[in-house]
Amino acid sequence: MEIEKIKAVDSEVAELVLEELDRQRNTIELIASENFTSPAVMATCGTVATNKYAEGKPGKRFYNGCEVVDKIETLAQERVKKLFGAEHANVQPHSGAQANMAVFLYALKPGDKILGMDLSNGGHLTHGSPANFSGMYFEVASYGVDDNGYIDYENLEKTALEQKPKMIICGASAYARVIDFKKFKEIADKVGAYLMADIAHIAGLVATGHHPSPVGYADFITTTTHKTLRGPRGGVVMCSGEHAAGIDKAVFPGLQGGPLEHIIAAKAVAFKEALEPEFKEYSENIVKNAKILAQTLVNNGIDLVSGGTDNHLMIIDLRKLDKTGKDISNVLERINITANKNTVPNDPKSPFVTSGVRLGTPAITTRGFREEDIKIVGEIITEAIKNSENEEKLAELKQKSLELCAKYPLYPDIV
Ligand SMILES: *Cc1c(COP(=O)(O)O)cnc(C)c1O
Repeated sequence: MEIEKIKAVDSEVAELVLEELDRQRNTIELIASENFTSPAVMATCGTVATNKYAEGKPGKRFYNGCEVVDKIETLAQERVKKLFGAEHANVQPHSGAQANMAVFLYALKPGDKILGMDLSNGGHLTHGSPANFSGMYFEVASYGVDDNGYIDYENLEKTALEQKPKMIICGASAYARVIDFKKFKEIADKVGAYLMADIAHIAGLVATGHHPSPVGYADFITTTTHKTLRGPRGGVVMCSGEHAAGIDKAVFPGLQGGPLEHIIAAKAVAFKEALEPEFKEYSENIVKNAKILAQTLVNNGIDLVSGGTDNHLMIIDLRKLDKTGKDISNVLERINITANKNTVPNDPKSPFVTSGVRLGTPAITTRGFREEDIKIVGEIITEAIKNSENEEKLAELKQKSLELCAKYPLYPDIV
C-alpha cells in the first residue's frame, strides 16, 4: 500500500487504513467468506487502470483509448476460462450479487419462478430472499437441508416437480457439505428449468479439484473472486457459448456502466496465481484445516450442523448449550477472533440473534496456520464458548489469539 502518498493528502483516511491493517494483523480471521489477497493483487487494485472508461467489451467499446484495457480484460477472461474449463466468461460484474443479477436479467422475466436454497438453511440473499431483488421481482420457492444438515434432494425434486420453476439455483453461503451438481442437473432437466450454480464460496476449491465442478451441468455459473479464490472483491459469470452474448448484454448495458478495469487487472493476477501448483496446495490445506478445526470442536463436545465439513467452513450449533450466535460471535471478537453469527436449520432464534456461528479456514490458511495452530484455535473457541462470562478466562484466551497472530506476521513488507 502506498500509505505515504495517502498520508500526504489525507492523514485521516491513512490512519484509518493503518488501523484496519493493525486489526487484520491482530485478529484470527475465521469469517468464511474472507481472505487475504497477495501483495501483487492488492497492488494491481491501485493502478492507473482505474482511470479508464471502457463500457462495452474487448474489441467493442463505446470509448476510444481502450486498446490496452482490452488486453487486460481479455487476459482475465482467458485465465478464468482456463481455471474452470468454461466456454465463456464475463469478468465485469462488480460483485457476486451483480453476477447473479446478470443471470436473472438474461434468463428470467419478472414474475418467473425460481427455486433456491433457503437463506436460513445456508442459501444467499440473492437466491430469493424477500429482502433482496431476487425475492421482490420473482416468485420464489425454496429448498433446504434435512435433519442431518445435508441438502434434502428428495424434497428438492418434489418441490421442483410441484413448482415448475424456470430456474433452479444451487450454491450456498453456509453449507459445509459437497454440492451434487449432477443431481441438481437431473432435477432441473426433469422440469425443464435452467440450472444456475453460484460457487461464490467454493470457487477456489472447485478450480483446484477439491470440490466437484458444475461445469457441464449448470447453464450458468457465477462466482465471487474474493473468497476462496483469493482475488480482489468482484464477480464473474461463466456460461456456454450459446448464452454468451445474452449474458454480456445483461452485465452491460443491462446492469452496469463502466467496468472496473483496475479490479479486472487484479482479477487477472489472482487467476494467474490460482493456476499455479501452490494454489492447489493452498486449497488442499484450506480443507485439511477445516476438517481439523471441525474435529477439534466435535471432540470437545461442540455440535456442528451436519456434524463436520467437506469444504472450507462449518456451522457451530449452539442450541444444546443454550447460547446464541450473536453472543458467542461477540465474545469471539473480544478475544480477537472474527467470525459471524449464522442461523442453523430450523433456528428458533431470529436472524439477528441466531443459534449458530459460521467458521471458515481460507484466511488463516493463507496466513500460514498449520495443524497444530488450528488445534489451538479450536481449543480457544471451545474455552470461549464454555466460559463466555468469565472475564479472566477471556483475557487469557485473547493472549493466546495474539500469540498465534504474532507467529504468522500479515503483510510484513507492506508498511
Ligand atoms: C458472497 C456470496 C454472494 C455475493 O457476493 P458479493 O460480492 O458480496 O455481492 C453471492 N452468492 C453467494 C453464494 C455468496 O456466498
